Amino acid sequence: MKVSENSVVVIDYTLTDNDGKVIDSSEDAGPLAYLQGKGNIIPGLEAALLGKEAGDEVKASIEPEQAYGERVEDMQQEVPKDLFGGIDNIEVGMQFESSTDEGPVMVTVVEMGEEMITVDGNHPLAGVHLNFDVKVREVREATAEELEHGHVHGEGGHHH
Ligand code: ZN
Repeated sequence: MKVSENSVVVIDYTLTDNDGKVIDSSEDAGPLAYLQGKGNIIPGLEAALLGKEAGDEVKASIEPEQAYGERVEDMQQEVPKDLFGGIDNIEVGMQFESSTDEGPVMVTVVEMGEEMITVDGNHPLAGVHLNFDVKVREVREATAEELEHGHVHGEGGHHH
């Protein structure tokens, strides 16, 4: 069966940047299961996997606009250290969930000052060109419940 809208797709993958540095891999976490066409994974990878079947190996080179978007420079802001009250040992690179008018956003600490901390609301992979090496393990029909939830259940997917 080929990957099409609403297929459950199970993949092994390795993700590298253009310097060959491994950003993420299924080697540690195990295979990833996603629902095609539901935005579970980045658009560029969905497009690369459309029409593939179990056993296929796919190399996809994905521009930021088909991945996590370009970096937006004015998403950096300084916030008072007090706001992090109760959190010890804040370090550059740590990530926090920040509530905004548009809902929760992950921010990354980029600079530590005496009283202020600079955080960046860009996705850590914004502006990064992504290279995926994917092996398709399984393609199957989604269950009615999976379609209703918009994600895959069981191994590699969601557990409720
Ligand atoms: Zn569910």
